[in-house]
Amino acid sequence: MSPSSTTTIARFLQVGIFKGKKLQKVEVEMESEREDNIYKLQHNREKKARRHGWDKGKRELIDGFLRLERRLREITQREILLQEKMNQNDFKSDVKEVEEIGKELEELPAEFFMTEQERKSLWPKLSTSTKKGLNLWRPQPEWYLHKTLVQDCVDRGGCCGRACGCCQKRKHQLEPNRRLGVGHCTVECGCCEAAHGFAFTDKQKETMKLYYPLNPDSDSKYFRKIMLASKYGLIDDCTQRPFDLIDKPPKHEEIQWV
Ligand SMILES: [Zn+2]
Ligand SMILES: [Zn+2]
Ligand SMILES: [Zn+2]
Repeated sequence: MSPSSTTTIARFLQVGIFKGKKLQKVEVEMESEREDNIYKLQHNREKKARRHGWDKGKRELIDGFLRLERRLREITQREILLQEKMNQNDFKSDVKEVEEIGKELEELPAEFFMTEQERKSLWPKLSTSTKKGLNLWRPQPEWYLHKTLVQDCVDRGGCCGRACGCCQKRKHQLEPNRRLGVGHCTVECGCCEAAHGFAFTDKQKETMKLYYPLNPDSDSKYFRKIMLASKYGLIDDCTQRPFDLIDKPPKHEEIQWV
């Protein structure tokens, strides 16, 4: 048995233990034996999930899950941005603004918690195939450095388009209670704000969401691209193993600019 397949078995067993119930040991071992076919496994799950989702009218659950995850990242980045502002000495002379930021900082943890709970409440309603796809892909700590998601971060003007390395670092820098805040830049990233030289207004934040909608009714092509990478590690018409599509560290200089 090759060292890589041993690692894979260990990883899947870990998932099985971590998730505790559904992912049975036998199934886990069978899956790892088919490691060469991980693409096929995930591809078939996505096909099944799509059928299930569309047939049962549960598509909005799949969209909702991704939008909640984006909100968790926004809240996390907003907290960091505001905390940094609070720490700036010159800023503290503006008492009203300090009060406003203090109030928002007090409210954000509750919003994070409730958003996390909402995401959790969706989990049992997802199709079995979707859950299996996520169970295989998400324990990989660098899943979000999938090529598609890195390119998307670049397209949205995020840190993956620069050499700062913020997206990769988040995994190490965030507290365990912000584990679900790990991921790419959002409109709330302070490093992006500094690089752009301006802060998005509320209206511009909404406009950015319209340009990059996590909603298949607005842009089914964009949504599908992000959904495939986020849930299964896949790219349409590409048969590479999901784990081989992780771009680590993000090669920002090689990424195509539109
Ligand atoms: Zn950055
Ligand atoms: Zn990024
Ligand atoms: Zn950023």
